Amino acid sequence: MELTNKTIIITGASSGIGEATAHKLASHGANVVLMARSEDKLQELQKAITDNGGKAIVATGDVTSKEDFDKGVAAVVKEYGKVDGLINNAGLMPLSFVEKLKTDEWMQMVDVNIKGVLNGVAAVLPELKKNKGGHIINISSMAAHRYFPGGAVYCATKSAVKMFSEGLRQELAPEYGINVTSIEPGAVSTSLTETITDEDVKEMMEGMQEMTTLEAEDIANAIYYSLSQPARVNINDVYIVPSEQK
Ligand code: NDP
Repeated sequence: MELTNKTIIITGASSGIGEATAHKLASHGANVVLMARSEDKLQELQKAITDNGGKAIVATGDVTSKEDFDKGVAAVVKEYGKVDGLINNAGLMPLSFVEKLKTDEWMQMVDVNIKGVLNGVAAVLPELKKNKGGHIINISSMAAHRYFPGGAVYCATKSAVKMFSEGLRQELAPEYGINVTSIEPGAVSTSLTETITDEDVKEMMEGMQEMTTLEAEDIANAIYYSLSQPARVNINDVYIVPSEQK
């Protein structure tokens, strides 16, 4: 199995894309490290993975906390001796129209979607440099390519993640053999929209045409594809959308 003995930290592992990715990577031999704030859900996931013959440990933490990340990485190194990869997946999407001035939600998106990614990179980079290789995958979005109503701040955060990934790749891949991938999904069926509080956005979304969205497993497959290439291959961007999405 391509990922045997690779230790990979997945943020936002308690649901949706992160959870599906944990199952997928563990089924290909990776030691997965499950990070999110909901400890109970992570423990259930750990049990499901180990019951299936996989390897998983729980590192409960908030990605906005540099200390939580550093503690998590130290625990991983103690358990497995090294870190091989990080999937910066934790994120939230409380869409709203700018004139509503939901500034707390704007700042929360900046803290989790952007600063959370920066904290993750800062925490694992010394370990990856020590190993002279590794892989960082950042979950950006179709929102990095185009604005959609209510998404001014969310789209800005995902554009930041996409461009940061390109900078990381250019700085880290040639010099240190650390590959970097930005995954940019369109609509995926998860609980991501549950944080929306703007009534106008909610109404707009209810009125949207039904379409067949992607499943979290589809993104897990794209992550696995990017991770399982030979070290000489850097998959830069994966822009993956539902066939029915315009
Ligand atoms: P979910 O809501 O199912 O998952 C979000 C995950 O992020 C949860 O595990 C949550 O765990 C975690 N999370 C949120 N805040 C924090 C925090 N402060 N610290 C640690 N973990 C946190 O949504 P998705 O699976 O859809 O989202 C995963 C990523 O995919 C996000 O970055 C999202 O922007 C991106 N994406 C999703 C798309 C979609 O259509 N669903 C499309 C394009 C991109 P907990 O609450 O336990 O901390």
